[in-house]
Amino acid sequence: MRFFPTQPKRRSSVRWLGEWGLVVTLALTTACSHTANNVAGAAEGQDVKPAGSASTIQTGAAVAFDAAHAYRLLQAQCDFGTRQMGSEGHAKCREFLIQQFKPLVDEFATQDWTQPIAKGPGAGHSYKMTNLLGIIRGKDVAPDTVAQSPNLMFSAHWDTRPVADMDPNPANRNKPILGANDGASGVATLLEMARVLKAQRPAQTVVIALWDGEDLGEFFYGARYFARLSSTPTWKQWRPTRSILLDMIGDSDLHVNRETNSLRMAPDLFQEVLDAAADLGVSDHFDGSPLEVEDDHVPLNAAGIPSIDLIDFNYRPWHTLDDTPDKCSPDSLKVIGDVLLRVASRAGRA
Ligand SMILES: [Zn+2]
Repeated sequence: MRFFPTQPKRRSSVRWLGEWGLVVTLALTTACSHTANNVAGAAEGQDVKPAGSASTIQTGAAVAFDAAHAYRLLQAQCDFGTRQMGSEGHAKCREFLIQQFKPLVDEFATQDWTQPIAKGPGAGHSYKMTNLLGIIRGKDVAPDTVAQSPNLMFSAHWDTRPVADMDPNPANRNKPILGANDGASGVATLLEMARVLKAQRPAQTVVIALWDGEDLGEFFYGARYFARLSSTPTWKQWRPTRSILLDMIGDSDLHVNRETNSLRMAPDLFQEVLDAAADLGVSDHFDGSPLEVEDDHVPLNAAGIPSIDLIDFNYRPWHTLDDTPDKCSPDSLKVIGDVLLRVASRAGRA
């Protein structure tokens, strides 16, 4: 196994199949610089609401993605501490996310199960896991047909890694990470997107999913659980036609990779994202190098749901104790949120 997280200038192509299961083909070409952002975080228990959102909705004015609010949602998750399976932070964050997510959607559901872990971090333990799911009806879908299958899914994982196994300091490698980017960034972006989507209504019905159990053991437990159930009568109405996964999109220096599993499995959807980015003048954030990643989109693709992963893997604090909110930017959350809201506004249109 070889990996070069601390040598950003070198141009190298590495295929690394780690014991942690993440398969990466990586070309590191540019230095990754991080700018600290001084956005105040929400204290535990504090209500996290976007400034002026209520009046905006009441007057019927366009509701826009609020970057500062999304960043507060990122900070609020981190304020619970590390959120690995079985931790107090995980339990508290679960309640926080339910409280935040439920009012933002037309229909809300959880998937709860107990997951034994056979290999990797957490092996030998069983953990209670929870996927959080919300449906937002499309604008032309009558209110009593909320059960119509969604056209599009947006998803991200909300758990954080129990071990900082990439930390430069060996003494830290058994400690859990805070997961500001690797966990909180995608969730924060999706919650803020949900607020905008419910106010403006997407072209067709959208489902938002927050996966548990992505970052331990043999990975992707939440997405695999959903994928397995998505064809059963109970969960069929939650099964999307296609899906977009967000992972590590909060990096201050955002350059989304051309993830090759995504390009292979759902090239048209990836192109829709690139087209939306071009329309909004933010293509320079989608110019990351080609990269193969195994992530939550892999089990979704395997279940027949064409899925892409938007990920910026050129992030030096990945799986270290340095994955903290100061490495993330409200602007990056907004770039992704605005692009995906544009994709949702067009999805299903001729
Ligand atoms: Zn991770």
